[in-house]
Amino acid sequence: MILLPAEQRAAIAAHAAADYPNEACGLLLGQKQSGRVLISQAVASANIAEQPSHRFEIDPGLRLRLQKAARAGEAAVIGHYHSHPDGAARPSDTDRAGIFEADLIWLIVAVNDSHVPDIAAFMPWADGGGFDELELHENGTG
Ligand SMILES: [Zn+2]
Repeated sequence: MILLPAEQRAAIAAHAAADYPNEACGLLLGQKQSGRVLISQAVASANIAEQPSHRFEIDPGLRLRLQKAARAGEAAVIGHYHSHPDGAARPSDTDRAGIFEADLIWLIVAVNDSHVPDIAAFMPWADGGGFDELELHENGTG
């Protein structure tokens, strides 16, 4: 089960709306504890993909900085998020082809102009061929 506090949900939704009609992306910091994952912070990234209207690519420099901070005691990178402008909160074929680390949670954000109707969470299969949907609680209080 993933816990997404309202404040982090709002930050992700605002980023997705601001970057519309391009895809917005970022990293998720948090903690895994006894089968539950608490997202403590959503960190916006520049989308450095060549076609940001149809692809996302997180800034590797941001990733490195966050991983160094995690080693210094800050929250760990536990996943990432990206938006689907005018699309559904489901993995696309591109997403299935783009699985490169099987231990990161994917949040996929449906965005329609300034409206974010749906966010869903997924875990890639270990062999990278697809995703399982995870239970997502959007209030964070469990
Ligand atoms: Zn996608």
